[in-house]
Amino acid sequence: MTRTEVNEYLKTIKSYYTDFFYDDNTFSVWSEELEKYSKEDLEERLREHLRGDNRDKTPLVQNLTRGLLTPEEKLEKKEHDFTIECNLCHKWMKESEYEKHYDECLEINRLWLIGRKQNPNLKREDVESLSKEHIEALGRRNPIRQINAEELLGAKRI
Ligand SMILES: [Zn+2]
Repeated sequence: MTRTEVNEYLKTIKSYYTDFFYDDNTFSVWSEELEKYSKEDLEERLREHLRGDNRDKTPLVQNLTRGLLTPEEKLEKKEHDFTIECNLCHKWMKESEYEKHYDECLEINRLWLIGRKQNPNLKREDVESLSKEHIEALGRRNPIRQINAEELLGAKRI
């Protein structure tokens, strides 16, 4: 919330609670608190207060901010909450990284399955350890079935 929005916000509170008094000092204290949070969240909090059990009481700044998250905290929480397990390699990652990872992981799987037909000892990790460039080059091969396990393992030795 910007300072201008804080000013509007205090005026709104004042219009509901006529005994709500604020001076420059109150304004700077409230500003310091409210500036951390988004306008939408604070407006929602005020609406909740107006409908809540304490609606007859003039809200204190802590009534309006308790439990709110700053935009930075929200982002952190989101990234923390939305982790996904890749169903191919079973690694955990952020949701935002998953799509890119999945394409690469799928390609590794495909090469591994092809290579394993000729060399049952070929491990998925062997293919995983190849360079990205090499995996891409192998993937462009047409028809892809001509890739043999030697090539996959040979590339790993390089
Ligand atoms: Zn994966």
